[in-house]
Amino acid sequence: MSSVSRLGYLVLLSGGIDSATALYLVRRNAARCSTLSILYHRRNRREAEAARAIAEAAGVEEHVELDLGFLREAVDLGAQIRAEVESHGAPLTLIPFRNLVFYSVGCYCAWIRGLDRVVAGHNAEDSQLFPDVGRNLLSSFNELVGSMLPWRRVEVEAPLMGLSKLEVVRLALELGVPLELTWSCWKEGEVHCGVCEGCRKRKEVFRELGIRDRTEYAE
Ligand SMILES: [Zn+2]
Repeated sequence: MSSVSRLGYLVLLSGGIDSATALYLVRRNAARCSTLSILYHRRNRREAEAARAIAEAAGVEEHVELDLGFLREAVDLGAQIRAEVESHGAPLTLIPFRNLVFYSVGCYCAWIRGLDRVVAGHNAEDSQLFPDVGRNLLSSFNELVGSMLPWRRVEVEAPLMGLSKLEVVRLALELGVPLELTWSCWKEGEVHCGVCEGCRKRKEVFRELGIRDRTEYAE
């Protein structure tokens, strides 16, 4: 990320820790900064609420919500697809071509608003888990986008791609990200359940960093 040029950013904001950290990272040097939250089938309502709260706390120019309800995770696409995805070792939360769709929609939304960059919050662990995350994919995508609308470029960047989850949270603390507003739980309770995979990882990261976890857990 260049700290010299002041660009306009559209941050893909899920409501989780990573994308909130990406938002606080780029807004420091941004001429303009807006956020986009994409809703899909069975998308956790609490995540979308968290995204709204984080966008407000960050004082973004505009928080956009787009409903792409036709997009489903592999777990919701029937037994055959579930089995296929599992046999290739990919997580059942995989949405086929998810990032191709998210980046494309992000570029459209950024371009029509005169913004220069779309920011994705992927961390290093995402690129090991999901087949549609990675630096090579990003540069191929940006090349394609540049050739489709060559006179005013929009590019996707993923500034946290080299960082582990632990390093992302450490950065979040440095940047003053309101972690208490982020949502990691896979359930839709009033508070974090405390036992699902999302909560387990969240607790683990705070514990490893030795910092106080202000999250309210049911268990
Ligand atoms: Zn949970």
